[in-house]
Amino acid sequence: MNTTAIIGGGASGLMAAIVAAREGADVTLYEHNTSIGKKILASGNGRCNIINTTATADDYFGTNSDFVTYALQQLPFTDFVTFCHSIGLLLDIKEDGRCYPLSNEAKSVLFSFSASIKEAGVKILTEKKVISITKTQNHFIVHTQDEKKTYDKVLIATGSQAAPQLGSSDDGYRFAASFGHTIIPTYASLVQLHLNSKIHHKMAGVKTFAEVTLYVNNNEVQKVQGDILFASYGISGLAILDISQKASRALLNHQKVMLSINLLPRFTAHQLDDLFHQLITAVPNHTLETVLSGLVPAKTVAYLCESAVINPAKTVALLTPKESSKLIGLIREWKFEVNDTHGFKHAEVSGGGVATVDVNNETMESKLIKGLYFAGEVLDIVGRRGGYNFNFAWASGMIAGREMAKK
Ligand SMILES: Cc1cc2nc3c(=O)[nH]c(=O)nc-3n(C[C@H](O)[C@H](O)[C@H](O)COP(=O)(O)OP(=O)(O)OC[C@H]3O[C@@H](n4cnc5c(N)ncnc54)[C@H](O)[C@@H]3O)c2cc1C
Repeated sequence: MNTTAIIGGGASGLMAAIVAAREGADVTLYEHNTSIGKKILASGNGRCNIINTTATADDYFGTNSDFVTYALQQLPFTDFVTFCHSIGLLLDIKEDGRCYPLSNEAKSVLFSFSASIKEAGVKILTEKKVISITKTQNHFIVHTQDEKKTYDKVLIATGSQAAPQLGSSDDGYRFAASFGHTIIPTYASLVQLHLNSKIHHKMAGVKTFAEVTLYVNNNEVQKVQGDILFASYGISGLAILDISQKASRALLNHQKVMLSINLLPRFTAHQLDDLFHQLITAVPNHTLETVLSGLVPAKTVAYLCESAVINPAKTVALLTPKESSKLIGLIREWKFEVNDTHGFKHAEVSGGGVATVDVNNETMESKLIKGLYFAGEVLDIVGRRGGYNFNFAWASGMIAGREMAKK
């Protein structure tokens, strides 16, 4: 029977532990938090967007995002449903493939995993921080503060640096590097963005539906629609999280990052022009401020006018055609420079990590060190918002668990 150590009691580690133990391995799970699965509990606003039924390699970023293809094929959605049944968990599929526990509570995911992991005979060591992993000729030694233990195989499932308050650490990168693995520089992902502007903080609290276009070095790279929310530090909202992955990576590469906000994406430029002129004709003596407040959030009006260099107290009948078109242009394309992210503490995930080139995607075993495995976010793979990150954590954890149980 293989003795295996799993470092990290998050999604990938829990999946690996159940699978390996069910296949006959003697599994010990190390978790430095007081309990396992803290990120699962916090996920999806407490609901846990557990998987996405439509995942493909296109939903992932990394130096080689095709690395995920085999894992996704090994755990198709129907198999995941079967696995969930086997741990007593029922799922609810939403529109666009997002999937949640039927209870709509992340707790139930953790309860099912916790009960099943114990049932499978896994030894769970909480409040045990692994400090280092070393290797003798045939064995690995896992070192914690107060002891060291020997294993045949080790899985590094320590996650990423995102949300350190939930237990994340860069330990996995350190362990991997100590065995000669390359670490691709990490960056906060699915995260709020900082803006280099003098007005965003004055609009803090404004939440609206918008279309956001991301420019890197002046080239358009992404366009999404969704909520945005101005904040004292910059901007957040689901649309911003979605563009943050490419924005953050570009910032890491010292590229120029801009975003453009269309405050009224439901209208074409022509329709908006018509609408604006209809309003001017209807209420020619009203101020620009009053008229704009009927079109866009009131708190943005003063700053739209400031950006367009037009007095908001001006009577709309007196607007020149040039001023009108400048305003309409700004409502549709309000540009801000992005100069930072809100950091790992606020990020849902991290890009970068252990280079996949040195990991076998069919076994999750290191190509450099026999018996050493990786799963989940510690690898240089990060998914889009929508259940894709758990998807890869479950799939890679399942493969690693299965392989580690083999003689
Ligand atoms: C707020 C939030 C919401 C999210 N919502 C979703 C969502 O709805 N859907 C989705 O797909 N993804 C979501 N994610 C992302 C998802 O949680 C992660 O991608 C996923 O948990 C990664 O799994 P993992 O096993 O690789 O790492 P983790 O789940 O982070 O697990 C790693 C574990 O290792 C432990 N550890 C680290 N270092 C050590 C050490 N030295 N010794 C012992 N233990 C150690 C950590 O405490 C942790 O428990 C969310 C993330 C956050 C922060």
